[in-house]
Amino acid sequence: MSGATIHKGGAGERLMQVKTKIIATVGPACAKPEKLEELVKAGVDVFRLNFAHGSHEWLTQIVGYIREISSRLGRPLGILGDLSGPKIRLNELPSGMLECFAGMKVEFVRKADPLQPMHLTCTYAALIDDLQEGDLILLADGAVSMRVVSKPLAADRVVCEVIQPGIIRNRQGINLPGAILSTPSLTPKDREDLVWALDHQIDFIGLSFVRRAEDIEELQQAIADLKPSHVPQIVAKIEKMEAVNDLERIIVATDMVMVARGDLGVEVDIARVPGLQKRIIRMCNQHRIPVITATQMLDSMQKNSRPTRAEASDVANAVLDGSDAIMLSGESAAGDYPVEAVSMMNRLAHEAERLRVHQTPPDISLAQVRTRALEVTEAVTHGAGIVAEMLGANLIVVATRSGKTALSVSNQRLQVPILGLTPYPHVATKMALFWGVTPLIANLTESTPQQILDFVVQWGLTDGVLRSGSKVVLIAASNWSAAGHDQLLVHAIP
Ligand code: PEP
Repeated sequence: MSGATIHKGGAGERLMQVKTKIIATVGPACAKPEKLEELVKAGVDVFRLNFAHGSHEWLTQIVGYIREISSRLGRPLGILGDLSGPKIRLNELPSGMLECFAGMKVEFVRKADPLQPMHLTCTYAALIDDLQEGDLILLADGAVSMRVVSKPLAADRVVCEVIQPGIIRNRQGINLPGAILSTPSLTPKDREDLVWALDHQIDFIGLSFVRRAEDIEELQQAIADLKPSHVPQIVAKIEKMEAVNDLERIIVATDMVMVARGDLGVEVDIARVPGLQKRIIRMCNQHRIPVITATQMLDSMQKNSRPTRAEASDVANAVLDGSDAIMLSGESAAGDYPVEAVSMMNRLAHEAERLRVHQTPPDISLAQVRTRALEVTEAVTHGAGIVAEMLGANLIVVATRSGKTALSVSNQRLQVPILGLTPYPHVATKMALFWGVTPLIANLTESTPQQILDFVVQWGLTDGVLRSGSKVVLIAASNWSAAGHDQLLVHAIP
Protein backbone atom coordinates (compact mmCIF):
# COMPACT_ATOMS: atom_id res chain seq x y z
CA MET A 1 0.00 0.00 0.00
CA SER A 2 1.83 3.09 -1.19
CA GLY A 3 1.87 6.43 0.61
CA ALA A 4 0.99 5.14 4.10
CA THR A 5 2.72 7.11 6.83
CA ILE A 6 2.63 5.51 10.24
CA HIS A 7 2.84 8.06 13.05
CA LYS A 8 3.63 5.82 15.96
CA GLY A 9 4.15 6.74 19.55
CA GLY A 10 1.48 7.67 22.03
CA ALA A 11 -1.69 6.97 20.03
CA GLY A 12 -1.82 3.21 20.63
CA GLU A 13 -1.22 3.67 24.33
CA ARG A 14 -3.86 6.40 24.61
CA LEU A 15 -6.36 4.22 22.75
CA MET A 16 -6.50 1.75 25.61
CA GLN A 17 -6.78 4.41 28.34
CA VAL A 18 -9.56 6.72 29.44
CA LYS A 19 -12.33 7.70 26.99
CA THR A 20 -13.28 11.01 28.60
CA LYS A 21 -10.97 13.71 27.23
CA ILE A 22 -8.79 15.86 29.48
CA ILE A 23 -8.21 19.55 28.85
CA ALA A 24 -5.45 21.39 30.74
CA THR A 25 -5.14 25.17 30.88
CA VAL A 26 -1.60 26.42 30.18
CA GLY A 27 -0.05 28.90 32.60
CA PRO A 28 3.25 29.56 34.38
CA ALA A 29 3.11 26.20 36.19
CA CYS A 30 3.41 24.22 32.94
CA ALA A 31 4.78 26.63 30.33
CA LYS A 32 8.12 24.83 29.87
CA PRO A 33 8.33 22.21 27.10
CA GLU A 34 9.38 19.44 29.53
CA LYS A 35 6.37 20.14 31.78
CA LEU A 36 3.95 20.22 28.82
CA GLU A 37 5.31 16.86 27.70
CA GLU A 38 4.83 15.42 31.21
CA LEU A 39 1.21 16.60 31.08
CA VAL A 40 0.69 14.89 27.71
CA LYS A 41 2.17 11.66 29.04
CA ALA A 42 -0.10 11.94 32.11
CA GLY A 43 -3.16 12.12 29.84
CA VAL A 44 -3.83 15.62 28.41
CA ASP A 45 -5.61 15.57 25.02
CA VAL A 46 -6.26 19.29 24.56
CA PHE A 47 -4.45 22.37 25.89
CA ARG A 48 -6.42 25.52 26.68
CA LEU A 49 -4.90 28.94 26.14
CA ASN A 50 -6.70 31.60 28.15
CA PHE A 51 -6.50 34.88 26.23
CA ALA A 52 -7.17 36.77 29.46
CA HIS A 53 -3.54 36.02 30.36
CA GLY A 54 -0.35 36.06 28.29
CA SER A 55 0.87 38.04 25.29
CA HIS A 56 0.57 36.76 21.72
CA GLU A 57 4.34 36.30 21.72
CA TRP A 58 4.11 33.99 24.75
CA LEU A 59 1.14 32.11 23.31
CA THR A 60 3.01 31.61 20.01
CA GLN A 61 5.87 30.03 21.91
CA ILE A 62 3.49 27.69 23.77
CA VAL A 63 1.78 26.62 20.53
CA GLY A 64 5.24 25.85 19.10
CA TYR A 65 6.09 23.65 22.10
CA ILE A 66 2.74 21.79 21.92
CA ARG A 67 3.04 21.09 18.20
CA GLU A 68 6.63 19.88 18.57
CA ILE A 69 5.63 17.46 21.36
CA SER A 70 2.62 16.31 19.35
CA SER A 71 4.64 15.44 16.27
CA ARG A 72 7.47 13.82 18.25
CA LEU A 73 5.11 11.60 20.28
CA GLY A 74 2.76 10.91 17.36
CA ARG A 75 -0.12 12.17 19.51
CA PRO A 76 -2.47 14.69 17.83
CA LEU A 77 -3.12 17.33 20.53
CA GLY A 78 -5.93 19.87 20.29
CA ILE A 79 -5.58 23.54 21.24
CA LEU A 80 -8.48 25.57 22.62
CA GLY A 81 -8.16 29.36 22.50
CA ASP A 82 -10.49 30.87 25.08
CA LEU A 83 -11.61 34.42 24.21
CA SER A 84 -12.08 36.60 27.29
CA GLY A 85 -15.43 38.04 26.10
CA PRO A 86 -17.04 41.03 27.75
CA LYS A 87 -15.67 40.23 31.21
CA ILE A 88 -16.02 43.37 33.32
CA ARG A 89 -13.22 44.14 35.74
CA LEU A 90 -12.60 46.79 38.36
CA ASN A 91 -9.96 49.35 37.40
CA GLU A 92 -7.30 50.37 39.89
CA LEU A 93 -8.59 51.35 43.33
CA PRO A 94 -6.99 54.38 45.07
CA SER A 95 -5.17 52.18 47.57
CA GLY A 96 -5.25 48.89 45.68
CA MET A 97 -8.08 47.52 47.81
CA LEU A 98 -11.20 48.62 49.63
CA GLU A 99 -12.81 47.07 52.66
CA CYS A 100 -16.58 47.12 52.15
CA PHE A 101 -18.83 47.08 55.25
CA ALA A 102 -22.51 46.11 55.23
CA GLY A 103 -24.65 49.20 54.55
CA MET A 104 -21.68 51.24 53.27
CA LYS A 105 -22.36 53.41 50.20
CA VAL A 106 -19.96 53.24 47.22
CA GLU A 107 -20.38 54.80 43.79
CA PHE A 108 -19.52 53.54 40.33
CA VAL A 109 -18.46 56.65 38.40
CA ARG A 110 -17.66 57.15 34.72
CA LYS A 111 -14.33 58.79 35.25
CA ALA A 112 -12.64 59.95 38.36
CA ASP A 113 -9.61 62.08 38.32
CA PRO A 114 -8.36 61.85 41.00
CA LEU A 115 -10.29 58.85 42.31
CA GLN A 116 -12.14 59.39 45.61
CA PRO A 117 -11.89 56.62 48.25
CA MET A 118 -15.50 55.45 47.72
CA HIS A 119 -15.48 55.78 43.92
CA LEU A 120 -15.09 52.77 41.67
CA THR A 121 -14.47 52.62 37.93
CA CYS A 122 -14.42 49.58 35.66
CA THR A 123 -13.38 48.34 32.22
CA TYR A 124 -16.92 48.52 30.78
CA ALA A 125 -17.71 52.07 29.63
CA ALA A 126 -21.50 51.59 29.45
CA LEU A 127 -21.86 50.12 32.95
CA ILE A 128 -23.61 53.18 34.34
CA ASP A 129 -26.01 53.35 31.36
CA ASP A 130 -26.93 49.66 31.67
CA LEU A 131 -27.38 49.46 35.46
CA GLN A 132 -30.82 50.14 36.92
CA GLU A 133 -31.99 50.78 40.47
CA GLY A 134 -32.30 47.43 42.27
CA ASP A 135 -29.63 45.64 40.15
CA LEU A 136 -27.23 43.37 42.01
CA ILE A 137 -23.45 43.75 41.59
CA LEU A 138 -21.13 40.92 42.64
CA LEU A 139 -17.40 41.31 43.20
CA ALA A 140 -14.52 39.14 44.44
CA ASP A 141 -15.93 35.97 42.84
CA GLY A 142 -19.32 36.62 44.46
CA ALA A 143 -17.90 37.07 47.96
CA VAL A 144 -18.89 40.77 48.07
CA SER A 145 -22.27 42.02 46.89
CA MET A 146 -23.91 45.43 46.54
CA ARG A 147 -27.19 46.70 45.14
CA VAL A 148 -27.84 49.85 43.08
CA VAL A 149 -29.89 52.15 45.31
CA SER A 150 -30.02 55.25 43.12
CA LYS A 151 -29.04 56.56 39.74
CA PRO A 152 -29.00 60.37 39.73
CA LEU A 153 -30.62 62.01 36.70
CA ALA A 154 -27.31 63.26 35.34
CA ALA A 155 -26.47 59.54 35.13
CA ASP A 156 -22.77 59.99 35.55
CA ARG A 157 -22.73 57.56 38.47
CA VAL A 158 -24.74 54.92 40.30
CA VAL A 159 -24.92 54.75 44.06
CA CYS A 160 -24.68 51.27 45.57
CA GLU A 161 -25.16 49.88 49.05
CA VAL A 162 -22.99 47.01 50.24
CA ILE A 163 -25.03 43.94 51.21
CA GLN A 164 -22.42 41.22 51.66
CA PRO A 165 -19.26 42.77 53.18
CA GLY A 166 -15.66 41.92 52.29
CA ILE A 167 -12.51 43.19 50.63
CA ILE A 168 -12.36 44.11 46.94
CA ARG A 169 -9.12 44.56 45.03
CA ASN A 170 -7.73 46.01 41.79
CA ARG A 171 -8.75 44.25 38.54
CA GLN A 172 -11.19 41.82 40.18
CA GLY A 173 -14.06 40.57 38.00
CA ILE A 174 -17.53 42.11 38.29
CA ASN A 175 -20.64 40.00 37.72
CA LEU A 176 -24.04 41.53 37.13
CA PRO A 177 -26.57 38.69 37.39
CA GLY A 178 -29.82 39.62 35.72
CA ALA A 179 -28.66 42.97 34.27
CA ILE A 180 -29.20 43.34 30.51
CA LEU A 181 -25.87 44.50 29.08
CA SER A 182 -25.57 46.32 25.77
CA THR A 183 -21.97 45.18 25.21
CA PRO A 184 -21.25 43.21 22.00
CA SER A 185 -20.25 39.58 22.60
CA LEU A 186 -16.87 40.11 20.88
CA THR A 187 -14.75 42.89 22.35
CA PRO A 188 -12.00 44.61 20.30
CA LYS A 189 -9.47 42.47 22.23
CA ASP A 190 -11.39 39.30 21.33
CA ARG A 191 -11.22 40.28 17.64
CA GLU A 192 -7.43 40.74 17.87
CA ASP A 193 -7.10 37.40 19.69
CA LEU A 194 -9.28 35.74 17.05
CA VAL A 195 -6.97 36.94 14.25
CA TRP A 196 -4.00 35.49 16.14
CA ALA A 197 -5.90 32.22 16.78
CA LEU A 198 -6.82 31.77 13.12
CA ASP A 199 -3.27 32.66 12.01
CA HIS A 200 -2.04 29.89 14.31
CA GLN A 201 -4.72 27.39 13.23
CA ILE A 202 -6.13 26.95 16.72
CA ASP A 203 -8.63 24.06 16.75
CA PHE A 204 -11.31 25.32 19.16
CA ILE A 205 -12.41 28.87 19.99
CA GLY A 206 -14.12 29.40 23.35
CA LEU A 207 -16.67 32.22 23.50
CA SER A 208 -17.11 33.61 27.02
CA PHE A 209 -20.30 35.11 28.46
CA VAL A 210 -22.52 33.87 25.65
CA ARG A 211 -26.01 35.29 26.17
CA ARG A 212 -27.97 34.07 23.16
CA ALA A 213 -27.60 32.04 19.96
CA GLU A 214 -26.92 35.23 17.97
CA ASP A 215 -23.61 35.61 19.87
CA ILE A 216 -22.45 32.35 18.26
CA GLU A 217 -23.54 33.61 14.85
CA GLU A 218 -21.57 36.82 15.43
CA LEU A 219 -18.42 34.77 16.08
CA GLN A 220 -19.12 32.51 13.07
CA GLN A 221 -19.40 35.64 10.91
CA ALA A 222 -16.20 37.13 12.36
CA ILE A 223 -14.38 33.86 11.55
CA ALA A 224 -15.84 33.71 8.02
CA ASP A 225 -14.80 37.35 7.38
CA LEU A 226 -11.20 36.43 8.20
CA LYS A 227 -11.28 33.59 5.62
CA PRO A 228 -9.20 31.08 7.64
CA SER A 229 -7.60 28.05 6.03
CA HIS A 230 -9.38 25.84 8.61
CA VAL A 231 -12.57 26.84 10.38
CA PRO A 232 -12.19 26.19 14.13
CA GLN A 233 -14.88 24.59 16.27
CA ILE A 234 -16.79 27.05 18.46
CA VAL A 235 -17.15 26.24 22.15
CA ALA A 236 -20.05 28.17 23.73
CA LYS A 237 -19.28 28.81 27.39
CA ILE A 238 -22.46 28.66 29.45
CA GLU A 239 -21.88 30.96 32.40
CA LYS A 240 -24.84 33.37 32.40
CA MET A 241 -28.51 32.85 33.24
CA GLU A 242 -29.43 34.42 29.89
CA ALA A 243 -27.53 31.59 28.19
CA VAL A 244 -29.30 28.98 30.30
CA ASN A 245 -32.60 30.52 29.20
CA ASP A 246 -31.59 30.27 25.51
CA LEU A 247 -29.78 26.95 25.90
CA GLU A 248 -31.39 24.90 23.15
CA ARG A 249 -30.93 27.60 20.48
CA ILE A 250 -27.28 28.03 21.55
CA ILE A 251 -26.68 24.27 21.35
CA VAL A 252 -28.17 24.17 17.86
CA ALA A 253 -25.98 27.12 16.74
CA THR A 254 -22.65 26.04 18.25
CA ASP A 255 -20.24 23.12 17.68
CA MET A 256 -19.53 22.41 21.36
CA VAL A 257 -20.44 23.65 24.83
CA MET A 258 -18.55 24.27 28.06
CA VAL A 259 -20.26 24.23 31.45
CA ALA A 260 -18.17 27.16 32.76
CA ARG A 261 -18.96 26.66 36.41
CA GLY A 262 -16.63 29.45 37.61
CA ASP A 263 -18.68 32.40 36.43
CA LEU A 264 -21.90 30.37 36.32
CA GLY A 265 -21.59 29.89 40.08
CA VAL A 266 -21.47 33.65 40.57
CA GLU A 267 -24.08 34.68 37.99
CA VAL A 268 -26.57 32.06 39.18
CA ASP A 269 -27.40 30.86 42.70
CA ILE A 270 -24.56 28.40 43.40
CA ALA A 271 -27.09 25.85 44.70
CA ARG A 272 -28.44 25.57 41.16
CA VAL A 273 -25.06 24.81 39.52
CA PRO A 274 -25.09 20.98 39.93
CA GLY A 275 -28.59 20.75 38.44
CA LEU A 276 -27.72 23.10 35.60
CA GLN A 277 -24.58 21.05 34.88
CA LYS A 278 -26.72 17.93 34.47
CA ARG A 279 -29.30 19.73 32.34
CA ILE A 280 -26.70 21.28 30.01
CA ILE A 281 -24.80 17.99 29.58
CA ARG A 282 -28.00 16.08 28.94
CA MET A 283 -29.18 18.52 26.29
CA CYS A 284 -25.78 18.41 24.55
CA ASN A 285 -25.90 14.57 24.61
CA GLN A 286 -29.38 14.71 23.10
CA HIS A 287 -28.22 17.07 20.35
CA ARG A 288 -25.08 14.99 19.89
CA ILE A 289 -22.52 17.76 20.36
CA PRO A 290 -19.48 17.51 22.66
CA VAL A 291 -19.71 19.10 26.12
CA ILE A 292 -16.90 20.05 28.50
CA THR A 293 -17.31 20.33 32.28
CA ALA A 294 -14.95 22.96 33.68
CA THR A 295 -13.58 24.73 36.72
CA GLN A 296 -12.49 23.83 40.22
CA MET A 297 -12.72 20.09 39.51
CA LEU A 298 -9.55 19.42 41.54
CA ASP A 299 -9.08 22.93 42.91
CA SER A 300 -7.37 21.94 46.15
CA MET A 301 -4.63 20.27 44.06
CA GLN A 302 -3.28 23.75 43.38
CA LYS A 303 -1.70 23.41 46.81
CA ASN A 304 -1.96 19.68 47.70
CA SER A 305 -0.74 16.57 45.93
CA ARG A 306 -4.08 14.81 46.53
CA PRO A 307 -7.64 16.05 45.99
CA THR A 308 -10.46 16.16 48.52
CA ARG A 309 -13.01 13.33 48.50
CA ALA A 310 -15.61 15.83 47.31
CA GLU A 311 -13.43 16.75 44.30
CA ALA A 312 -12.87 13.07 43.46
CA SER A 313 -16.65 12.63 43.44
CA ASP A 314 -17.10 15.76 41.34
CA VAL A 315 -14.85 14.44 38.56
CA ALA A 316 -16.58 11.04 38.63
CA ASN A 317 -20.02 12.64 38.55
CA ALA A 318 -19.10 14.86 35.60
CA VAL A 319 -18.10 11.69 33.72
CA LEU A 320 -21.26 9.86 34.79
CA ASP A 321 -23.38 12.87 33.80
CA GLY A 322 -22.11 12.35 30.22
CA SER A 323 -19.31 14.93 29.77
CA ASP A 324 -17.16 14.41 26.67
CA ALA A 325 -14.27 16.26 28.30
CA ILE A 326 -13.29 17.53 31.73
CA MET A 327 -11.05 20.54 32.28
CA LEU A 328 -8.34 21.76 34.62
CA SER A 329 -7.83 25.52 35.07
CA GLY A 330 -5.73 26.85 37.97
CA GLU A 331 -4.67 23.28 38.82
CA SER A 332 -2.54 22.99 35.66
CA ALA A 333 -1.93 26.70 34.97
CA ALA A 334 -0.82 27.99 38.33
CA GLY A 335 -0.80 25.12 40.84
CA ASP A 336 2.07 23.31 42.54
CA TYR A 337 1.00 19.86 41.20
CA PRO A 338 -0.04 20.17 37.53
CA VAL A 339 1.14 16.68 36.48
CA GLU A 340 -0.37 15.00 39.54
CA ALA A 341 -3.68 16.79 38.84
CA VAL A 342 -3.79 15.41 35.27
CA SER A 343 -2.88 11.88 36.44
CA MET A 344 -5.54 12.05 39.13
CA MET A 345 -8.16 13.23 36.66
CA ASN A 346 -7.19 10.37 34.34
CA ARG A 347 -7.56 7.79 37.14
CA LEU A 348 -10.84 9.21 38.41
CA ALA A 349 -12.34 9.32 34.90
CA HIS A 350 -11.15 5.78 34.19
CA GLU A 351 -12.80 4.41 37.33
CA ALA A 352 -16.02 6.33 36.65
CA GLU A 353 -16.19 4.97 33.11
CA ARG A 354 -16.06 1.42 34.47
CA LEU A 355 -19.29 2.16 36.35
CA ARG A 356 -21.24 2.61 33.17
CA VAL A 357 -21.94 -0.59 31.26
CA HIS A 358 -23.34 1.33 28.33
CA GLN A 359 -22.11 4.87 28.18
CA THR A 360 -25.26 6.57 26.91
CA PRO A 361 -26.80 8.02 30.07
CA PRO A 362 -29.23 5.29 31.19
CA ASP A 363 -32.22 7.59 31.35
CA ILE A 364 -31.77 8.84 27.79
CA SER A 365 -33.36 6.35 25.46
CA LEU A 366 -32.26 6.22 21.86
CA ALA A 367 -35.52 7.88 20.80
CA GLN A 368 -34.73 10.82 23.07
CA VAL A 369 -31.20 11.06 21.71
CA ARG A 370 -32.72 11.52 18.28
CA THR A 371 -33.75 15.12 18.64
CA ARG A 372 -33.42 15.36 14.87
CA ALA A 373 -33.62 12.65 12.21
CA LEU A 374 -30.51 10.51 11.87
CA GLU A 375 -28.46 11.23 8.80
CA VAL A 376 -27.27 8.29 6.70
CA THR A 377 -23.82 8.44 8.29
CA GLU A 378 -25.32 8.36 11.77
CA ALA A 379 -27.49 5.36 10.88
CA VAL A 380 -24.48 3.50 9.44
CA THR A 381 -22.27 4.29 12.43
CA HIS A 382 -25.06 3.24 14.76
CA GLY A 383 -25.27 -0.09 12.93
CA ALA A 384 -21.49 -0.44 13.11
CA GLY A 385 -21.63 0.19 16.86
CA ILE A 386 -24.20 -2.56 17.34
CA VAL A 387 -22.13 -4.96 15.19
CA ALA A 388 -18.94 -4.10 17.12
CA GLU A 389 -20.55 -4.64 20.52
CA MET A 390 -22.28 -7.88 19.45
CA LEU A 391 -18.96 -9.24 18.18
CA GLY A 392 -17.02 -8.00 21.21
CA ALA A 393 -14.75 -6.18 18.74
CA ASN A 394 -11.40 -4.87 19.96
CA LEU A 395 -11.42 -1.77 17.79
CA ILE A 396 -13.67 0.42 15.67
CA VAL A 397 -11.75 2.30 12.99
CA VAL A 398 -13.27 5.38 11.38
CA ALA A 399 -11.59 6.68 8.24
CA THR A 400 -12.70 10.30 8.03
CA ARG A 401 -11.84 13.48 6.15
CA SER A 402 -13.86 15.90 8.28
CA GLY A 403 -14.18 14.09 11.63
CA LYS A 404 -17.99 14.04 11.34
CA THR A 405 -18.25 10.25 11.15
CA ALA A 406 -15.90 9.89 14.13
CA LEU A 407 -18.11 12.23 16.18
CA SER A 408 -21.12 10.17 15.21
CA VAL A 409 -19.45 7.01 16.57
CA SER A 410 -18.24 8.89 19.67
CA ASN A 411 -21.82 9.97 20.43
CA GLN A 412 -22.87 6.36 20.91
CA ARG A 413 -20.65 6.06 23.99
CA LEU A 414 -19.49 2.56 23.06
CA GLN A 415 -17.23 0.39 25.20
CA VAL A 416 -15.13 -0.47 22.14
CA PRO A 417 -12.12 1.85 21.59
CA ILE A 418 -12.38 4.05 18.49
CA LEU A 419 -9.46 4.93 16.21
CA GLY A 420 -10.10 8.09 14.16
CA LEU A 421 -7.93 7.80 11.07
CA THR A 422 -7.45 10.88 8.89
CA PRO A 423 -4.89 12.24 6.46
CA TYR A 424 -5.37 15.78 7.82
CA PRO A 425 -3.55 17.03 10.95
CA HIS A 426 -6.25 19.67 11.66
CA VAL A 427 -8.96 16.97 11.65
CA ALA A 428 -6.84 14.75 13.93
CA THR A 429 -6.40 17.58 16.47
CA LYS A 430 -10.15 18.29 16.36
CA MET A 431 -10.88 14.61 17.09
CA ALA A 432 -8.61 14.85 20.16
CA LEU A 433 -11.65 16.25 21.99
CA PHE A 434 -14.16 13.61 20.85
CA TRP A 435 -15.10 11.19 23.65
CA GLY A 436 -13.54 7.76 23.13
CA VAL A 437 -11.83 8.64 19.84
CA THR A 438 -8.05 8.31 19.55
CA PRO A 439 -6.91 10.25 16.49
CA LEU A 440 -4.19 8.95 14.18
CA ILE A 441 -2.78 10.66 11.10
CA ALA A 442 -2.28 8.34 8.12
CA ASN A 443 -1.91 9.34 4.52
CA LEU A 444 -4.28 6.76 3.06
CA THR A 445 -6.36 8.98 0.79
CA GLU A 446 -5.92 6.76 -2.24
CA SER A 447 -6.54 3.53 -0.31
CA THR A 448 -9.55 1.23 -0.53
CA PRO A 449 -11.32 0.21 2.73
CA GLN A 450 -9.57 -3.19 2.54
CA GLN A 451 -6.16 -1.47 2.28
CA ILE A 452 -7.02 0.78 5.25
CA LEU A 453 -7.95 -2.31 7.23
CA ASP A 454 -4.63 -3.94 6.33
CA PHE A 455 -2.81 -0.80 7.47
CA VAL A 456 -4.67 -0.68 10.80
CA VAL A 457 -4.06 -4.38 11.48
CA GLN A 458 -0.35 -3.89 10.84
CA TRP A 459 -0.30 -0.75 13.02
CA GLY A 460 -2.29 -2.43 15.80
CA LEU A 461 -0.10 -5.55 15.85
CA THR A 462 3.07 -3.42 15.97
CA ASP A 463 1.72 -1.16 18.72
CA GLY A 464 0.38 -4.08 20.76
CA VAL A 465 -3.21 -2.85 20.49
CA LEU A 466 -4.31 -5.89 18.39
CA ARG A 467 -3.28 -9.52 18.33
CA SER A 468 -4.26 -12.80 16.69
CA GLY A 469 -8.02 -13.28 17.17
CA SER A 470 -8.74 -9.52 17.54
CA LYS A 471 -11.79 -8.24 15.69
CA VAL A 472 -11.82 -4.90 13.93
CA VAL A 473 -14.81 -3.03 12.53
CA LEU A 474 -14.00 -0.39 9.90
CA ILE A 475 -16.25 2.46 8.80
CA ALA A 476 -14.99 4.40 5.80
CA ALA A 477 -16.91 7.71 5.71
CA SER A 478 -18.87 8.59 2.58
CA ASN A 479 -16.44 11.41 1.76
CA TRP A 480 -13.44 9.11 2.06
CA SER A 481 -13.31 7.69 -1.43
CA ALA A 482 -14.66 8.45 -4.87
CA ALA A 483 -17.41 5.88 -4.22
CA GLY A 484 -19.18 8.51 -2.12
CA HIS A 485 -21.01 6.19 0.25
CA ASP A 486 -20.29 4.87 3.74
CA GLN A 487 -18.67 1.44 3.81
CA LEU A 488 -18.54 -1.06 6.63
CA LEU A 489 -16.03 -3.93 6.92
CA VAL A 490 -15.59 -6.49 9.68
CA HIS A 491 -12.32 -8.36 10.06
CA ALA A 492 -11.00 -10.97 12.47
CA ILE A 493 -7.20 -11.26 12.59
CA PRO A 494 -6.22 -14.89 11.87
C1 PEP B 1 -15.40 29.55 34.03
O1 PEP B 1 -15.88 30.63 34.34
O2 PEP B 1 -15.71 28.47 34.56
C2 PEP B 1 -14.43 29.49 32.91
C3 PEP B 1 -14.00 28.36 32.44
O3 PEP B 1 -14.03 30.68 32.38
P1 PEP B 1 -12.76 31.53 32.80
O4 PEP B 1 -11.75 30.56 33.32
O5 PEP B 1 -12.36 32.21 31.55
O6 PEP B 1 -13.26 32.47 33.83
